[in-house]
Amino acid sequence: MLHENDHYKEKDRSCLRSITLYHRNNNAAITVWKWWDTGVFTNQDMFSALQASFSAEYADIALGIGLKPVHYTVFGIVFVIIGSAVLIARREKVTVTEEATVMLECPYCKHQWRESMSKTHLKSMGYPRVRTLSRRKCPKCAKFIRPKIAATNV
Ligand SMILES: [Zn+2]
Repeated sequence: MLHENDHYKEKDRSCLRSITLYHRNNNAAITVWKWWDTGVFTNQDMFSALQASFSAEYADIALGIGLKPVHYTVFGIVFVIIGSAVLIARREKVTVTEEATVMLECPYCKHQWRESMSKTHLKSMGYPRVRTLSRRKCPKCAKFIRPKIAATNV
């Protein structure tokens, strides 16, 4: 019985504590609200300082709300820049990996030499169906020939 009583006391105490806390907070809020509502700030230093702090805080909040769209815009631009940079970097990486080494052969002197070109370029020329390149000078016999694609690493 005593134990239960203690329990209730404890409960009551905690309840009372929460009530007093609530009231204290409420009172503080009301006081602040009253300060705001009536604008009663005496010429005393403490209150003028309080007013200054409150007005500063309020201005900060207003500024925060005012700056929000700007912040979002700035963040958006930054992310777009980062995203496009990543995309470009990726594309460059892809083109680097898509680089193919082609062994070309002159149909006249049978000289072979290596050339690097992009795989997309190679495929656009019709490789592997078309195994010749556009006309160019052979580096050995200096004839204007269509080099044969002898081998690729594609
Ligand atoms: Zn040649």
